[in-house]
Parts: sequence; C-alpha cells; structure tokens
Amino acid sequence: MLKPSFPADFSHVAHGSAGLFQPAAVGGARPSGPEGDGRLGIYAKSITPPPLAADLARLAIQKNRAERYELLAVARRLYLVAGNRAGLAYGHDYCRTAKCRYISHGQGVGVHKSKKYNGAFYSGLVTCGSVWNCPVCGPKIQERRREEIAQAVTWAYANGYQPVMVTLTFPHRAWNKLKKLLKKQASALQLLRAGSPWNRFKNWCGYQGLIRALEVLFGRHGWHPHTHELWFVRPDADVEEMKAKILKLWESACIRAELLDENDSAQLEAFRAHAVDVKGNCSASDYLAKQDDSRHWGVDREIAKASTKAGRAKGLHPFALLAKAGQGDKRAERLFLAYSLAMKGKAQIFWSPGLKATVGVHEATDQQLSEEVREPADLLGQLSPDDWKLVRSRNARAQVLDAAENGGWPAILAFLKSLALPEPSRPFSQQPESCKASLHRPL
Ligand SMILES: [Zn+2]
Repeated sequence: MLKPSFPADFSHVAHGSAGLFQPAAVGGARPSGPEGDGRLGIYAKSITPPPLAADLARLAIQKNRAERYELLAVARRLYLVAGNRAGLAYGHDYCRTAKCRYISHGQGVGVHKSKKYNGAFYSGLVTCGSVWNCPVCGPKIQERRREEIAQAVTWAYANGYQPVMVTLTFPHRAWNKLKKLLKKQASALQLLRAGSPWNRFKNWCGYQGLIRALEVLFGRHGWHPHTHELWFVRPDADVEEMKAKILKLWESACIRAELLDENDSAQLEAFRAHAVDVKGNCSASDYLAKQDDSRHWGVDREIAKASTKAGRAKGLHPFALLAKAGQGDKRAERLFLAYSLAMKGKAQIFWSPGLKATVGVHEATDQQLSEEVREPADLLGQLSPDDWKLVRSRNARAQVLDAAENGGWPAILAFLKSLALPEPSRPFSQQPESCKASLHRPL
C-alpha cells in the first residue's frame, strides 16, 4: 500500500510570503512615490545615477505585468488549440480568457494613465474576469477580495467576535482527478456543517459565519484542493478545544464524502495530525498571508520552486503550469486545461449568506471587479484597429502600457513605429519582452 501523501501536502500551510512583486496594476497602478521631487539633483554629477525607489517599483510592476501578459498569451494559445480540437467554429470561444485583453469591442482601444499613480491600462477590450484562468484578471480580482476580507476582520473585532483561521485539507493521490476531488470536497464541506453535532458546536463557540477561500495547487501527489476559512466566533472560545472539535467533525465528514478511508490506520493517523489547522485571534494579514502564493505569484519564483524538492512537494500554482506549458511542457498543458475545466463555475471566495450585508461589503461579481477602474485617469489616445493588430501580432500588449507610463502618448507612437519595422531592423532594446523571450524558448 502506498503511504499517505500528508506530510508533503500539508507543508505549504506554514509557508509564508516571500515574493517580491505586487500584482500587475491593471486598471490603476500602485503608488509609485513622489516624482520630480528634485532628488535627481543629488546625482546630477554622477555618470550613472542610481535609479530612484519609485523607478525601481515601476520597473518591478512592469516586469510582473509583462510576465502576466506573456502567460495570458500562452493561455490563449492553449484554449485556441482546445477549441479547434473540440470543433468550434471559433477556437477562442472555448474559454473567455482566450479573448481577454485581446479582442476589442470594436470602438478602438483606449490607452489610459492614472493621474495619481501613473499606471496605464486599456479600455475597449474584452476582459474575462476569471480568477482561476487569467493571469491578468485573477490578481486584480484577488486584490479587491482581500480588501473585503480585511474589512470583515475589522468588523469582527469592533463587534466583539474572534476571527479564527481554519485550514481544512484531506488526503489525495497523484492519480486523483481534480474534478472528482472538488466534488467530494464540496460534499465534505456541506456534511461538516449539517446535523446536530454541528449545531452543538455552533452554539458552543458562538459561531456567526465564515469566509472561505478555495485554493488548488499541483504537487508531487497530484492536485491539492484545500480551503482557508475565517470563522467568526465568541472572543473567549478556546482554540485547542475548538481544533479538537473541528477535527472530529471534519474526519466524520471526509469519511462520509469518501475522501478518507476509516480502515486505513496510517491514513487516519496522518489525517489527525495534519488535516485541520486552527489559529485563534487572527489578524487580516495572518489570514491573507495564506493566500499570498497567488498574490505574490511570479514566474521566476515558481520556476525556481518547481526545481526544488520542497517546491515540488508543496505544489505549484496553476499559473506555474501555464509557465511550463509556455516552455513546451505538454503535460503541463494538459494539466492546465484539465484544471480550467474543473474550476469552471466555482467561486474562489465564499461568504456565509447575509455576512457581507452585516459587514457592509457590497456585492460585486469577479467580472465587475476585473473591469473596475478606481482612480481618475487621463485618456492618452486611441489605438486604431491596425495598431492593435500590430501590437497583438508582436505580443507587445504589456510593452505599450510600459511606454504609456514611461513617456505618455509620444512614447506609444514611437514604440508603435519601432514595432512596425521588420524585426531584424529593430534595435534589440526596442523589441517586446515576449519577442526577446522567444529567442530562448518557444512560446
Ligand atoms: Zn482575463
């Protein structure tokens, strides 16, 4: 009999955030610090002045955005192939992410720049609003959802409730299909909160409701779906006691959902040691740090992680599979497509009914959040359909935004001019990142 996969699969629970970059600032960038503040004068006599912190932050954001657009191009390619294989008249109808920030609504493509933060973004394009599939929409949606969760934690403390972080996992094998695992997991989560044992627990700890985040990683032991939940309970509920009670309920639910074999003593032992993690009196950052794998997600970091034993054991973010697919890994391609199909229609964040209204959070769909523009921005100009075709054909969607941030509309025009040149006559420094990348690896 194979050993249970627990020790490796649970190791990510203690994993903190070590990423360097913030998510791409689509639709409104992060603050880049003061500009034109005279500090350049300090270096006026230097031959090569060191870059300002604001410039470095901008460069980091641009690098991150370029990676995400590059991955979006890989996703588009995969979905197109899958759509063609499925016999669709238009391959990109297979998944809306294939059209995301690629297909225009037909009235031209606007390039905007935020007045305050200098972040550039497009208008007039289809956005997919998929938190699972899209490396560009996903981080933006998640950032907004994080603010809602932080609001709930503030509400809890202000109203005398204790926010408790509960992580629930279960055993899985390398050959388990993700779709099946998700179905059984949903059933286990439902069984956990049904019947008189749950009602007794609820009354005991003064349970008010929860926020649940679903996360899926792929590791040495296959797909690893798990939930990070935030429960609101009475302030003096004892965490150790709570953990023991939750473990009992979760064990029973997992057995009934056929996720756990009660006759397999080794599996049962591992389950009891690792399946439930509870942290009392947690802060918003405690909870949100659990999701930082996707927030601070970066290609470099994931690829580095994939090459280490610990990284493979913890599991890779699905966008890392996309990055590997971009490098020609056929297995990663199949896995990413299977993941996309399995996640279809699933919400990433779930709130107990009525909790959002109690906390004062407005309902907004992922699609709305992916299109949201918060800061006032200037319209720099409109790209013609031909310009946009050119930008797409050169895989230079992120670089047009870089040009907008670095030099406004004149810089965009200069960049477009350089793109229109036949490739060999374009200086290497003016080639889009994805073109440079393609010199090293197939996309
Ligand atoms: Zn998208």
